[in-house]
Amino acid sequence: MGGGGGGGGRGVWFGVAAGCAAAACVIAVALVSRRVKSHRRWQRAAELVAEFEEGCATPVGRLKQVVDAMVVEMHAGLASDGGSKLKMLLTYVDSLPHGSEKGIYYALDLGGTNFRVLQVQLGGKGSNILKQKVERQPIPQELMTTTCEKMFGFIASKLKQFVEKEEESREGTSETRALGFTFSFPVKQNSVSSGVLIKWTKGFSIEDAFNKDIVACLQEALTKEGLNMQVAVLVNDTVGTLALGHYHDQDTVAAVIIGTGTNACYVERTDAIIKYQGLLTNYGGMVINMEWGNFWTSHLPRTLYDIELDEDSPNRTDQGFEKMISGMYLGEIARRVLFKIAVESEVFGDVGSKLSQPFALSTPLMATIHEDDSADLREVKRIFEQILQIPDIPLKTRRLVVKVCDIVSRRAARLVAAGIVGILKKIGRDGSGPSTSGRPRGEPRRTVVAVEGGLYERYSLFRDYVDEAIVEILGDVAQNIFLKTTVDGSGTGAALLAAAHLSNRKSYI
Ligand code: ADP
Ligand code: MG
Repeated sequence: MGGGGGGGGRGVWFGVAAGCAAAACVIAVALVSRRVKSHRRWQRAAELVAEFEEGCATPVGRLKQVVDAMVVEMHAGLASDGGSKLKMLLTYVDSLPHGSEKGIYYALDLGGTNFRVLQVQLGGKGSNILKQKVERQPIPQELMTTTCEKMFGFIASKLKQFVEKEEESREGTSETRALGFTFSFPVKQNSVSSGVLIKWTKGFSIEDAFNKDIVACLQEALTKEGLNMQVAVLVNDTVGTLALGHYHDQDTVAAVIIGTGTNACYVERTDAIIKYQGLLTNYGGMVINMEWGNFWTSHLPRTLYDIELDEDSPNRTDQGFEKMISGMYLGEIARRVLFKIAVESEVFGDVGSKLSQPFALSTPLMATIHEDDSADLREVKRIFEQILQIPDIPLKTRRLVVKVCDIVSRRAARLVAAGIVGILKKIGRDGSGPSTSGRPRGEPRRTVVAVEGGLYERYSLFRDYVDEAIVEILGDVAQNIFLKTTVDGSGTGAALLAAAHLSNRKSYI
C-alpha cells in the first residue's frame, strides 16, 4: 500500500483511502471476472440447449418423412416375417366388440409387476358396461422366475378366489365362463386363442415357457383348480385398448399405448396382409399388433444423448422409437442433457449431485417441471432440491431446465403424431388417397384412435403437442380425426373381446 511518509494525520488518512481504493479495485476486478465467468457458463449452457433443440427439431417436413417411413415399414412387415423392424404381428382378432354384447365375462391381465382379474357385466345394445369388478394382485418376485406350472397355478388360484367371491350372490351356474387373457409380452399367435412366447421382458424369466402355448398352460391350470372357464381370446394390452375404444365408438380403427412403453395396433384389410395369404379366409379384416416401439428410420431426429442412452441400455439397438417416446425414457433423456450442462457449464454448481445418476429424473417429475406455471418456477426449485439435491438454482437456470424438458416432450409427442398419421395413411384415412368403402369423394369420414397410458393421460402439455402436430401434418383432414383416451383397455378390452368372439351374432371387421 502506498502512503506518504510524514506521519501526519492527513497522511494516514490518505494512506487508508488509497488502500480502500485498491481493495475496491480488487473486489471490482473479482466481480467483473466472476461476471465474465458466469456469462461464459451461461453461454455454454445456452449453447448446449440450442444444439439439443436443433438436434431434436421436428419441422412438419421431417414429420411427413417419418409418416412415409412408417407406411413403408408397415408394408414391409406385412409382406414377410422379419421384413421390417416392425413385427406387424397377426392377432387373429377379426371381430371387435360393438356394444350389443351381453352377459358376464372375465379377464386376466398379466404384463407387469401386478396382475389383475376382472369381471364385466354387459347388458346388450345401448346399455354399455353395467358393472365391473377389478382386483389387483402383486406377483410374488420368486414366481417371476419359477416354472410355468407354478406361475399359472398361482394365477388360477387367485382367479378362482375372485370368481367365487363375485358369484357368491348369484345362483350356481353350470355354464362355462369365458375369459379374455391379456398377456403383454411378445407372442407369436397361431389363432385368436393360442400363441407361443417370443421372449420374456419386464423381469420375467420362466425358462420352461418357451415353445409352449401360453393359453394351454393357463387352461390346464384353470382345469386343475376346477374352474369351469374357457380362455376365449389371447391379446396384448394394445388390442384390449382397441377393443374398448371400438365398443364405445365403432369408428375406432387403431389404438396406441403411451405409458412406460409404447405400442400400437390397427385394423388391416386381410388382403393387405401378404404374409397371411396362405391362410386367407373370407374375413374382411384383422387387427395387427405393430410392436411399433421397435420402429426405426433415419429420418428420426436422433441426438448424441439418444445414442448414449441406447448404448447404456440392456436392449441396445432395440426399441429405437420407444426410446424417444415412452415414459420409461423421457425423464432420462432430459437428465442426460442436464447432466452434460452441469459438467460443461457448472450452472448447477457442484456436479457431484444426483444428476449424474441414471434414471434419477423420472418422467412424471420431468412433466411436473415442464408444467410448472408458477411465476418463480417453485416446483422446479423443489424437485431440484429434494430429488436431485441441487439447492438454490436461480430462476434463470430453472427456465433453462424447463426448456430442456419442453424439447424432450415436444419431440416425443410430435413423433407419436407422425406414427399415428402413418397408420391412418396406410389405411387410407389421412385424406390423401381415393375414398374407400364406396363413399362419395370428399365426404368427411370420422376416424377415431383410442389412446391409453399414463404418459398420455397424465401429461397435458404432451397431449397438446400431439394434437398440434396432427393438425400440422394433416391440415383440414385433422378435423375428422379424434384421439380418445380410454381407461383400462388392457383389462376391460380383453373381457369385451371374449364376449365379441363368443357372440352368436359375431360381426367381422
Ligand atoms: P404401464 O405402461 O406400465 O402399463 P401406465 O400406462 O400407467 O402403466 O403408464 C405409466 C407410465 O406413465 C410411467 O412409467 C410414467 O413414465 C408415465 N407417467 C405416469 N404419470 C405421469 C405424469 N404425470 N406425467 C408424465 N408421465 C407420467
Ligand atoms: Mg399398461
